[in-house]
Amino acid sequence: MTLDRRSFIKILGSASGVALAGCAGAPAVVSGSANEMLAKTGRRVVVVGGGYGGTIAAKYIRMMDKSIEVVLVERNDHFVSCPFSNLYIGGIIKDLTPLTIKYDKLVSNHGVKFVQAEVTAIDPATHTVVTSKGTLTYDRLVVSPGVDFRLEEMKGYDDNAMQVMPHAWKAGPQTVLLRKQLEAMKDGGTVVMSAPLAPYRCPPGPYERASMISHYLKQHKPKSKLILLDANPDVTSKGPLFKKGWKENYAGIFEYRGAKKVTEVDVKGMAVLVEGLEDVKGSVINVIPPQRAGRVAVAAGLVGDDKNWCPVNATTFESTKQKDIHVIGDACIAGAMPKSGYSANSEAKVCAANVVALMNGKETVDLSGINVCYSYITDDQAISVAGVYTVKDGKIVGVPNSGGVSPADYSMAKTEAIYAHSWLKNILAEMST
Ligand SMILES: Cc1cc2nc3c(=O)[nH]c(=O)nc-3n(C[C@H](O)[C@H](O)[C@H](O)COP(=O)(O)OP(=O)(O)OC[C@H]3O[C@@H](n4cnc5c(N)ncnc54)[C@H](O)[C@@H]3O)c2cc1C
Repeated sequence: MTLDRRSFIKILGSASGVALAGCAGAPAVVSGSANEMLAKTGRRVVVVGGGYGGTIAAKYIRMMDKSIEVVLVERNDHFVSCPFSNLYIGGIIKDLTPLTIKYDKLVSNHGVKFVQAEVTAIDPATHTVVTSKGTLTYDRLVVSPGVDFRLEEMKGYDDNAMQVMPHAWKAGPQTVLLRKQLEAMKDGGTVVMSAPLAPYRCPPGPYERASMISHYLKQHKPKSKLILLDANPDVTSKGPLFKKGWKENYAGIFEYRGAKKVTEVDVKGMAVLVEGLEDVKGSVINVIPPQRAGRVAVAAGLVGDDKNWCPVNATTFESTKQKDIHVIGDACIAGAMPKSGYSANSEAKVCAANVVALMNGKETVDLSGINVCYSYITDDQAISVAGVYTVKDGKIVGVPNSGGVSPADYSMAKTEAIYAHSWLKNILAEMST
């Protein structure tokens, strides 16, 4: 749905009202007052979303050109990482503290201006972003809002159903809820998970989650069972490695069922329905719905013909739908790069370099991107998939003979579990310092 001019002006009017009220207290703005933050004095980039993509884009633009003002708008005053949230669900990490970052160092070290606010609309025509704290104008806009859910494809799955059958696909309260449900479940219960058709955020994520829930059941509720209903015909990422890990560690606990697309939930009956027909009951149910680019990107007319994801120029990450707006992270279509935090980090850096180049009339540079996704199988064994990416004929493609998956015999699995911990520590440090 594209925002037309009239409805944009309506939202703009009401958001300005909120801004005036908000300015009186302005408690959530980390640096400066809301008024200082909103008044544009020089060249400005606004970044929407302070996650894996947005933090890095904001930081690198400031690192490359201090004369550009960067305003980062994020709805929360902190960010919780999805990577490693499956380990928390599996009882391996005791709380979400190691997965949580704050924004204060981006402000003090790099002069990024942080506004804690909800972005309610973007008007590409007037270069304006409407937030719950007021309106910001920009020269260029970087949008990294992550994903939202295609709830229209999952009958009965609304905000209330999410409190009963958590998705836990955005880390935070949902993640805590799923773990609490597993802890409260009687031994002998059945956990049911559903995974959507690709593409979705983190291709191996549902399979890592299945491993971590199985690990939890094996340790704490050995008479229980997990069923994964996967809409895809088969495991879409690191298939042989996951299957070997499941066979060796979780036989009798975990059952994988491919080509089982969940299209409906029955909250009262604690069941999910496959294609509206076969129903599968669970004591705990984890629904991972189909996804699309974050709502704000859809409303700004940034999505392509599929109405789900945002097409971009492979070099600059500038939207092919709206000028002067760049889209990175899960929301964009990045060719061969998967929707991962590591990809978002690579995309953010090349996007930042090109935003600075375009604002200074300099030549743009092509991406040299990298991605590694670790997935835990047990508490001390992990597997990985890696890739290196470049731009060829206007498309992001894998570099031939690069990347690959872990050895099939699991000979590196214990070492990779240690590497994975440092990966998380490093990438979160880069986002928050
Ligand atoms: C269970 C799980 C495990 C994963 N494991 C890995 C892994 O091991 N390795 C890996 O690389 N990736 C992993 N991922 C994928 C990774 O989390 C995402 O690919 C990554 O977060 C994408 O970054 P992003 O910037 O696009 O979105 P996000 O990191 O989600 O950031 C989006 C930000 O935008 C904010 N926002 C959205 N809309 C608005 C708005 N209207 N106003 C204000 N703020 C807004 C949100 O609050 C959020 O902070 C995993 C994902 C899941 C679910």
